[in-house]
Amino acid sequence: KEPTDINILADEYLRLAYHGLRAKDKSFNADLITHFEEGLPKVSIIPQDVGRVLLNLFTNAFYATQQKQKSLLNDKQGEAIAYKPTLMVTTLQKGNSVEIIVKDNGTGIPDAIKDKILQPFFTTKPTGEGTGLGLSLSYDIIVKGHGGTIDIQSEEGEGSEFTVALPAGGS
Ligand code: ADP
Ligand code: MG
Repeated sequence: KEPTDINILADEYLRLAYHGLRAKDKSFNADLITHFEEGLPKVSIIPQDVGRVLLNLFTNAFYATQQKQKSLLNDKQGEAIAYKPTLMVTTLQKGNSVEIIVKDNGTGIPDAIKDKILQPFFTTKPTGEGTGLGLSLSYDIIVKGHGGTIDIQSEEGEGSEFTVALPAGGS
């Protein structure tokens, strides 16, 4: 583990996720909004591991907005014109934790599958697009590996918000 500036890590992986997606789909455009708190304490983490978690959260979020855009184009063209895929990434200190909040305005998560998404191999994506390992691995990395937490808020049709909290002093 090394003392890491979470703002730099989040920014790096956000770009990586966005460019990765646009390399596959050049017509995909999203608004990226970042609220990075200044002067955050460093967190003691394995940067590659937490980076993988962020990459998966960002990729999931972009995917959800892409899916929402596609479904609007199919059956609600008027709304599709007004819809802009948006990803908001916030970092902040809360008590003795540093939080990273990833919020999207994508498809949201249906109640029926909310308790399944952390399970290994659970995916709603077609073969080749998802393994279903991202969030279960994220849970292991954040909770077991770093003594942190992952919190999920989501409303079907509206979007999702994933909050990762890491102990500021390290674990
Ligand atoms: P994968 O991305 O390979 O499907 P994950 O473990 O990362 O595996 O995610 C599991 C499932 O959780 C996804 O297939 C999707 O159904 C749901 N999911 C995760 N993040 C989001 C999100 N931001 N919006 C909507 N659904 C999501
Ligand atoms: Mg994933």
